[in-house]
Amino acid sequence: MSAIFSADDLTSGGGVFSRLRPPARLCVFGAPVDHSKSPAFQNAALVAAGIDAAYVRIHVPPEKAAAAFRALPGAGFLGANVTIPLKAAALAAVDEADDYARRSGSVNTVVVRDGLLLGFNTDGPGLSRAIREEFSVDLRDLRVVLLGAGGGAGRAIAVQCAAESCERLVLVNRTVEKARALAAELAPAFRSDRLLGPTDRVQVIGFGESELREQLSRADLVINATSVGMRRTDPPLIPAPLFTPNLMVYDTVYGSGTSRLLEDAAAAGARCANGLGMLLHQGALSFEIWFDRPAPLDVMRRALGEAA
Ligand code: NAP
Repeated sequence: MSAIFSADDLTSGGGVFSRLRPPARLCVFGAPVDHSKSPAFQNAALVAAGIDAAYVRIHVPPEKAAAAFRALPGAGFLGANVTIPLKAAALAAVDEADDYARRSGSVNTVVVRDGLLLGFNTDGPGLSRAIREEFSVDLRDLRVVLLGAGGGAGRAIAVQCAAESCERLVLVNRTVEKARALAAELAPAFRSDRLLGPTDRVQVIGFGESELREQLSRADLVINATSVGMRRTDPPLIPAPLFTPNLMVYDTVYGSGTSRLLEDAAAAGARCANGLGMLLHQGALSFEIWFDRPAPLDVMRRALGEAA
């Protein structure tokens, strides 16, 4: 693994980045950032595309985020990715954000252009591509149950489901009020003449077993966008008996093992996939935004597979 740089390396002029060979021109900001697999596949993409630039990890604590974003142009960076917990701070820091990032309330991709910072969010579109690839279906044709709708990733995915007008969207969140507020925002996208019976196309529930049972019995796809999953001590988000073989289950969490959610779902015969596909596609979309050309997806996929 390559070195991890600090926010101070950026705000002190960024000379350390220009002295690298190739020079660091792209980065990921996060806290923590050591787990990030983005350098593995973004550097492979840069080599494959013949671009003389490196992609590095920069540990940026929240209190240093605003200064670190401001320092990107002066330090010679073309752009950045942003991960936990800085995506909302990134939206506040950029000079302009596209409509999708504004509606998602967060930015995961920053572009430096003419000294200005432009913000985008590729998490939702990345998830959409991953679902198509893993399950050969489009979000628009699915009844989706989204766990963790109140978080940053959950919100971006909900906005994507609304943009694609999926058949039905059930927002599940521990703090139900957050999901209710989001449902109210998204409701106009779900007003249509589709005839699905008397139930609203956007619903909000908590993690109560009976509500989950009812909604899962009418769902096609379950997406986990909570931060619960990889620790063996994590409680089950969904009781195992509620999974059925007709479900597709996508866990945005990824790591070296299989999450409990996917273990339980697979044991019930459901089709399952972890968040590596979303990671790959959100990164490929970032590359396309930075360089305005198709990303070398096969190279990136191979590099991610070797790093995972
Ligand atoms: P976040 O903003 O902190 O949101 C966390 C979400 O998890 C909230 O909805 C929160 O509910 C919920 N939650 C936390 N603990 C819970 C518990 N014990 N029971 C039920 N719900 C709980 O985090 P985030 O940035 O959205 O990230 C969430 C996950 O998405 C992370 O695991 C991250 O790795 C993954 N992700 C993956 C990709 C990818 O490319 N694969 C991209 C982005 C994010 P409350 O609202 O009630 O607090």
